[in-house]
Amino acid sequence: MKSMVIAALVLSSASLVLSAFAATTVIQGKSAGYGSAAVVTPKYAGSAESPTIKEGQVSGDAVDIVPDPASEGESPSVPEASENSIPNDKEPPATIEKNDQGLPPSKTTESKGEEKPDNPAVKTDKAKSQKVIYLTFDDGPSKYTNQIVDILNQNGIHGTFFMIGKQLDGNEKAVKNAAENGNYVGLHSMTHDKKKLYQSGNSAKFIKEFKQEQALVKKITGTTPWLIRAPYGSMPEIGEKFRDDIAAAKFKMWDWTIDSKDWSYTGKPDRIIKEVKRQVHRDTEVILMHEKSQTVQALPEIISYLQKKGYSFAVYKPDQHFSVNFAKDQRL
Ligand SMILES: [Zn+2]
Repeated sequence: MKSMVIAALVLSSASLVLSAFAATTVIQGKSAGYGSAAVVTPKYAGSAESPTIKEGQVSGDAVDIVPDPASEGESPSVPEASENSIPNDKEPPATIEKNDQGLPPSKTTESKGEEKPDNPAVKTDKAKSQKVIYLTFDDGPSKYTNQIVDILNQNGIHGTFFMIGKQLDGNEKAVKNAAENGNYVGLHSMTHDKKKLYQSGNSAKFIKEFKQEQALVKKITGTTPWLIRAPYGSMPEIGEKFRDDIAAAKFKMWDWTIDSKDWSYTGKPDRIIKEVKRQVHRDTEVILMHEKSQTVQALPEIISYLQKKGYSFAVYKPDQHFSVNFAKDQRL
């Protein structure tokens, strides 16, 4: 009798051990499987440093670029451009709001706003955790250029302008004013004419226009800009061979990560603000805007909203270039 009880005990403890073993195996198997599946591997191309994942954001969950033909009336919209557009292995925010491109010092004092970028001690760490907005304004110079510059000045920040070559004549003062106030004057072709720029399927006319405009801007601002924005964005017109040529010509090309769709919201600045609010979420955003009346109206609120969200503002710096193009072409 006693031995039977012992035998039963031995058996049951053996099965306990067995089942415990089995359980352990299952857990291990599970956790191994889970671990490999759950590790958030940011899909950033060439991102050496793991990007900080903020606000519950899974950075690996990059949204693919889906050009929206309905948008931009000129530019195909890329409402949720991929995070990949902005490789985080360089640190564009490192020199937030300092003057760039070897331009004369800004008339407005640096950092009327919050940032004190000149403190090297905090620069690096700060840069890494910083959320940065690049405001970009296309299709100038125009009667709105000075107004936009004024708003930027009032906020102690700078913007990146992509100007059209054929509009430079007669607007030299506004262009110069933008540059002298610490903004970057980039290139947006001579004609902004889709047929002329893209219809041939090759890059010859495109590059010729940008070189021509580059010389004109140099005459006005004293600085040679190398950053271009392709009219209507680089998709779908600009293919790989085309990009080879752009790279060979030493130009850099920025698309954007947020399309404010401002050009389409005539008389509706609120819609522009809403659009920006809807799309903004990455640590680094490049916002596409245009020199339009409704954009001028929306701009102050857009800036203050983004500031409240913890963003700083930066202007394009040639020596801190990072890629923002739909094809994720690191050469551009
Ligand atoms: Zn344009």
